[in-house]
Amino acid sequence: MRKRLLLHICCAPDGVYIPEKLSEDYEVICYFYNPNIFPKEEYEKRKSEMERVAKLKGYKLVVGEYNFQDFVKRAEKLYYLPEKSARCDFCIAMRLEDSARKAKEMGCDVFATVLTVSPHKDFERINELGEKIAERYGVNYLPSNFKKNDGFKRSVEEGKRLNLYRQDYCGCESSLVYRRMFKDAESRDTVFLFYGERVGIYDLDSVKRFLERNNCLTGFVFYKEEPTENVLRYAYELRLFVEPFSKLDWRKRIFEKKGKKVEILKLTDIANRDIFLDPC
Ligand code: SF4
Repeated sequence: MRKRLLLHICCAPDGVYIPEKLSEDYEVICYFYNPNIFPKEEYEKRKSEMERVAKLKGYKLVVGEYNFQDFVKRAEKLYYLPEKSARCDFCIAMRLEDSARKAKEMGCDVFATVLTVSPHKDFERINELGEKIAERYGVNYLPSNFKKNDGFKRSVEEGKRLNLYRQDYCGCESSLVYRRMFKDAESRDTVFLFYGERVGIYDLDSVKRFLERNNCLTGFVFYKEEPTENVLRYAYELRLFVEPFSKLDWRKRIFEKKGKKVEILKLTDIANRDIFLDPC
């Protein structure tokens, strides 16, 4: 008899091909559980697309609770952090934990997640979290790297074939804010990249004023010395990207490839110019 596997699904494009693949070895039950998705309309859209896939493909699908307030209560404090940080760890662990609980409740032998099909996610970290949670719940976890062996490519192709809705941000409010910021930067002819040894609150104010004078909503600030938590929080409030200096060249190439003019400015120069322009 085949083992029963509860497969956590984050969205239809990622959940379109993997269940079919796993069905060769398991009796698969898909579990759509994603209280991180913001706003509610987006959640409904992603859920109904997965329901459509399940119907078309004959997948067994269970939909979890959309306990968004629980997610926000704990994750909101981490919104200012970039992707692949403690915020994502918490978000992924929350979904895996509920999947483990559900697997146990449904008498499944093992659980897994399609999150590892995404090239934007760290599959090793996801598996690490999955193993720890499995131990706590006394249920087995299937470690995976579903993007391997053309897994991601096949998911994309199948998604296209079925004309599935493919979102352009990960899911939470913070990822939506960052996506909008990025789109704004992309929509300008010139993208501003700022750099400095240390980044402080005053530097961010100067950068913001500089951007406003140039009709931009956002810019990228690169630091050599890790900024304080307050600085990172303030940057998020001001809608500025703050990244390590090692990423500057990479960012520059991304925008240049898109045909943008990239201006690289020193934070100290901006601050001095700012004092001169705005002596009050
Ligand atoms: S970026 Fe994605 S994984 Fe990270 S917290 Fe937001 S929704 Fe969760």
